[in-house]
Amino acid sequence: MIEMLNVYKKYPNGITAINGLTVRIEQGEFVYVVGPSGAGKSTFIKMMYREEKATKGTIKVGDFDLVTMKDKDIPYLRRHVGVVFQDFKLLPRLTVYENIAYAMEVVEKNPKIIKKRVLEVLELVGLKHKVRMFPNELSGGEQQRIAIARAIANMPRVLIADEPTGNLDPDTSWEIMNILEEINNQGTTVIMATHNSQIVNVVKHRVLAVENGRIVRDQLEGDYGYEV
Ligand code: ADP
Ligand code: ADP
Repeated sequence: MIEMLNVYKKYPNGITAINGLTVRIEQGEFVYVVGPSGAGKSTFIKMMYREEKATKGTIKVGDFDLVTMKDKDIPYLRRHVGVVFQDFKLLPRLTVYENIAYAMEVVEKNPKIIKKRVLEVLELVGLKHKVRMFPNELSGGEQQRIAIARAIANMPRVLIADEPTGNLDPDTSWEIMNILEEINNQGTTVIMATHNSQIVNVVKHRVLAVENGRIVRDQLEGDYGYEV
């Protein structure tokens, strides 16, 4: 489903962030990406939704070849790959409803279908009652739930989460994790970069440890594996 073969990423400043990385991830997997700061986790993840382009190697996501893909086709890729970030990245001047609908409007023109789906994803994250609120009226955990709702609105095959609990307290982090589990249980591939050792060690999934731009450990039902 996702395949990287001997991938390199050298940034314009000369830093090689990904250094000959090979990995294969099947549809429906839940994968944690762990490793020290600066190891290349974010770069690894960014290459999966073409936020960064590989310098060398092969990257395939579903039917997309991310190396030969033209920039104008990135929006098509993004229908299949949803992304959530540590800092939520909701649009501050739009309501909860508008944030999600806006993400859908690129793909879906029928306002009735959009409305139905916005309410459906809000139901899934338990925040239907906040539909008219603005992001700054919500807690961090609520904002992240809205960001997740937005990321899955177009029913992507893959959901990528870069440190989704990084700004949240432990209880809220568990709520977010439970939502990601539910999305994964519905068949979506989930790839989550995280420093949350508790979650990784309790909710067991495949662990990819990245160091110096390579995968140094690939373990089914793995541990976090670093001192915290
Ligand atoms: P991690 O997510 O594991 O902290 P990153 O992928 O962010 O690692 O960074 C890997 C390496 O690439 C680091 O040395 C970092 O400084 C460098 N790096 C990350 N982004 C950029 C960028 N946009 N330009 C130049 N260097 C970068
Ligand atoms: P349950 O099915 O008991 O509701 P959850 O799906 O909420 O469990 O959580 C999955 C796992 O995460 C369980 O092993 C649970 O013990 C653990 N867990 C859930 N919430 C917390 C929390 N706030 N702190 C620590 N562990 C938690």
